[in-house]
Amino acid sequence: MAELFYDADADLSIIQGRKVAVIGYGSQGHAHALSLRDSGVDVRVGLHEGSKSKAKAEEQGLRVVPVAEAAAEADVIMVLIPDPIQGDVYEKDIKDNLKDGDALFFGHGLNIRYGFVKPPAGVDVCMVAPKGPGHLVRRQYEEGRGVPCLVAVEQDATGNAFALALSYAKGIGGTRAGVIRTTFTEETETDLFGEQAVLAGGVTALVKAGFETLTEAGYQPEIAYFECLHELKLIVDLMYEGGLEKMRWSISETAEWGDYVTGPRIITDATKAEMRKVLAEIQDGTFAKNWMDEYHGGLKKYNEYKKQDSEHLLETTGKELRKLMSWVDEEA
Ligand code: NDP
Ligand code: MG
Ligand code: MG
Repeated sequence: MAELFYDADADLSIIQGRKVAVIGYGSQGHAHALSLRDSGVDVRVGLHEGSKSKAKAEEQGLRVVPVAEAAAEADVIMVLIPDPIQGDVYEKDIKDNLKDGDALFFGHGLNIRYGFVKPPAGVDVCMVAPKGPGHLVRRQYEEGRGVPCLVAVEQDATGNAFALALSYAKGIGGTRAGVIRTTFTEETETDLFGEQAVLAGGVTALVKAGFETLTEAGYQPEIAYFECLHELKLIVDLMYEGGLEKMRWSISETAEWGDYVTGPRIITDATKAEMRKVLAEIQDGTFAKNWMDEYHGGLKKYNEYKKQDSEHLLETTGKELRKLMSWVDEEA
């Protein structure tokens, strides 16, 4: 079973005694920087030349300096910029500004797990990964609550890395909800697998296949859209609140019976065998290598896939139908 840590297990004064640099001011960066500051921590934000988010950080009362300067000033450096550029920014602006006893922090384990960032031996390497988007992390903190976090230590140079990570998690409200100890390897591999096999890849492929089956059989795309995409939110909300049981309690008995007998015909042993292959390619680094090659090669296939799906009948139908639903906010 997972090991859980709460407010009483974490000592806020540890992080209050350090100088923290939050690199990046996006989804996670703004939440960490503002909440650490409100927890009495000495924070500066590190941003690149020409950064769009610089003005916002300054408006919110934070001091913004170039990444290299932030890394040099601070003794805890939290890297919260997009994962594919972390390796380059580390080489250019962070590496030479690390001293023995400093700590390098991440919000996701990818770059450490696959060796795109290789910190020196004298530095603590920790992860504090909230299990929610930055805006929720910040809102919960302001309301006196918190979003659960995963915490991990990859390298404990000082002998105090875990206590430091817990202290950081407390500073953003994580220990109010509960923090789970994991490793960089477990967090990275399960995160990649979850988004590929289930949350993003699995779900979009399932929705498209269902929609295509109905429209190819001559049913109207508008009706197929409602059945295969729109109603998904209802189902997911129920699962989020009370697992499979609450969802099945809410739907009709007919739907529940269809769920039991048809689900296993759609997700078969062959699907699970493919999932194991996907997992193996995550574990052996194949996925990460291919993605970095694609990213640094100019995202050609990525943009092709994006364009293909934006022209799919499912998407063009949905765009029109959502105009009929005043409560669906495209901007939200
Ligand atoms: P974002 O894409 O929101 O970060 C964008 C920020 O990075 C902006 O402030 C941007 O500046 C800045 N930035 C871009 N390039 C550079 C650069 N070269 N140097 C300095 N700053 C730069 O990132 P997220 O918050 O989504 O993700 C950050 C980390 O947190 C990742 O490791 C991610 O995996 C992890 N994470 C994210 C979660 C989420 O909900 N998004 C959840 C849990 C973990 P500007 O735009 O102003 O130019
Ligand atoms: Mg992810
Ligand atoms: Mg129905």
